[in-house]
Amino acid sequence: MPTGACGIDCDVCKLKVAGICSSCGPGNSDTAARKLAAQVRLLGAPCPILACAQNQQIFYCSRDCRSFPCENFSRGPYPYSEGYLAMQKRRRRQKPPGRTPSGTVLTVPAEYWEELKTRDIDQLCRLSLAAPKPPRGLLVPFFNRSILVDLENSALRERIEGRWQPVDYPLLELVMQVYLLNVTETPLTGERVSVHDLKDAHFFQGPHTLKTAPLLEIFGRNLPGFIAAARQLGGAKLDLAGAAFMLLPLPKIPVYYLLWEGDEEFEANMTVLFDRSIERHLTADAIWGIVQLVSDMLVMSP
Ligand code: SF4
Ligand code: SF4
Repeated sequence: MPTGACGIDCDVCKLKVAGICSSCGPGNSDTAARKLAAQVRLLGAPCPILACAQNQQIFYCSRDCRSFPCENFSRGPYPYSEGYLAMQKRRRRQKPPGRTPSGTVLTVPAEYWEELKTRDIDQLCRLSLAAPKPPRGLLVPFFNRSILVDLENSALRERIEGRWQPVDYPLLELVMQVYLLNVTETPLTGERVSVHDLKDAHFFQGPHTLKTAPLLEIFGRNLPGFIAAARQLGGAKLDLAGAAFMLLPLPKIPVYYLLWEGDEEFEANMTVLFDRSIERHLTADAIWGIVQLVSDMLVMSP
């Protein structure tokens, strides 16, 4: 593997091509072990980044470690600049842009807010299992958090540091509105189904395939990372697959993520299941959207 644990791409470095330097490889690789031994022999000490990544069995710090960028990076001028590390910290707090199945950035139709404002709040709360928040709002459970749907100002808010601050996350805004506008009386059935068992199974093909590829890229060889991310979202562990969790993005919409770890022989695999009742609340494209939302939340979980 040509990329070092820190994320430096040795493949594009003349030092490697000329054979002057060798790649460090991912933290859990034999290459990393050899490089560490060579560093100790030739330099008297190992690279603290590579040593830490090996110790924690982290492939690549910037992709797989929840502490990145840690103080091993900020301590010295090597390998990244302060500006780069500051950019990483800042952008890791951003939400991924929600996209439609065709790849365009999604927007929230203004008429959804207008339609929501015509609804009776008590009735909305009863159906969606939200709580009223006077004067014109609803508090909707979202994983292990609460989101305020502020009908007066057509905005989502979350209480952070004692203030209701705006939530700028179009995908969540869209999913929240579709849920509130369409949720029905139907309770959970307890029957777990995949998209192939739904009446609109044909929808989930091609560009509508559920978005789990980024999760496999990050967690396919990193079960502990998946477990930590799911726990961070308040997921309930299930005794299934290599690791499995029930996540609750919205009160009537449990989503089950099952991960089988990959190895040298087998590719990692992920399955997403739902409660059978989901199709009484959400259309096929909304189900696709909620999986995109949950997957993004797992990938970006701090
Ligand atoms: S900083 Fe450490 S892990 Fe990164 S290339 Fe250098 S020696 Fe390898
Ligand atoms: S703690 Fe720092 S050096 Fe260690 S694996 Fe994580 S990001 Fe890399």
